[in-house]
Amino acid sequence: MELLGKSKEELREMCVGMGEPAYRGGQIYHALYAERKFDFAQMTNSPASLRERLAAEATVTLPVVKQRFASSDGSVRYLFALGGAVKQGDGDFNAGDTEGTEKKNLLKAASVEAVFMPSEGRQTICVSTQAGCAVDCQFCLTAQLGLIRNLTAGEILAQVLLPLEEHKGRLAPQTNIVLMGQGEPLLNFDAVMAALRILLDPEGVGISPKHVTLSTSGIVPGIERLGLEKVRPKLAISLNASNDEQRDALMPINKKYPLSVLLDACKKYPLRPWEHLTFEYVMLGEVNDAPEDARRVVRLLGPLKSVKVNLIPWNPGELPYRESSAEAIEEFRRILVDRGIPAFVRYSRGRDVMAACGQLALMQIESSA
Ligand code: SF4
Repeated sequence: MELLGKSKEELREMCVGMGEPAYRGGQIYHALYAERKFDFAQMTNSPASLRERLAAEATVTLPVVKQRFASSDGSVRYLFALGGAVKQGDGDFNAGDTEGTEKKNLLKAASVEAVFMPSEGRQTICVSTQAGCAVDCQFCLTAQLGLIRNLTAGEILAQVLLPLEEHKGRLAPQTNIVLMGQGEPLLNFDAVMAALRILLDPEGVGISPKHVTLSTSGIVPGIERLGLEKVRPKLAISLNASNDEQRDALMPINKKYPLSVLLDACKKYPLRPWEHLTFEYVMLGEVNDAPEDARRVVRLLGPLKSVKVNLIPWNPGELPYRESSAEAIEEFRRILVDRGIPAFVRYSRGRDVMAACGQLALMQIESSA
């Protein structure tokens, strides 16, 4: 019985099923997510008899840190190995359970990346939501993996809990989470939301919704569904193009959800009073970085309320794109700002330890091949 990824309600039901009072489930929930106690012996808010039963009947499966890359800017990039397992329900799997596998979902072994980035007054953790990705953005190395599998809620949570635990002696007061690693979060909606509810619960991991951002390539039904959630993160849209022709070429998902449909969903998205929609725009030299592109972005985003744009300079690497010049980025930013659209240049952290998402997992596959 896997506990990591279980909600408070599920843990309460589990305790009742074990003949224990329901409130013991709340204690396990607190120990797991607020105190990051992964060893039952350390869950001292539960009685010794329950801890012994849990040790015999349940597991907390953490991914193995296969590699750690420390950047000179202080960020740490993790390559996590996720064991093969048998899925029994959302966020619920038992490694090594082979009984009745034909009725269950097999989870393939996979590698995913997460990055821990400390900065003044806060740390930001970037997590993956799928191993590989089916969306096929042309500027993304993860796309070359294809979709390997969806992560469970527990596997998504572990990418936050493990780095927090590893750096617990020097954590800043604020933690930001960005769902911008491998995978399209809105194509693994249920597991992502199950993980987010625990991350955003003041009695769980306790991170403010203002500090958690989900980034999507523009999966319109997922955006609509997210807008209906009571507890949800902030939303960022990966835009990267100024017209359909350009976006079709860079992000083939645009053929399914073209800009007019995507921006209409953005217009209808129910923003909270403190919230704005973020649009990310990877600056690709001589592809999407001309002043005319900036003017088209102004026309696209002008009708939306409360937006901001993050311009992300391209990290040169294996893919056939070039960096935009500093002048082109500044000119682009100025055109947006002059027309009333807040725009910021965001450099990727950990550039010296391979910051392109998917790069480590791809290397892993290539080296094992
Ligand atoms: S950028 Fe994101 S959505 Fe696009 S292929 Fe890469 S991981 Fe998938």
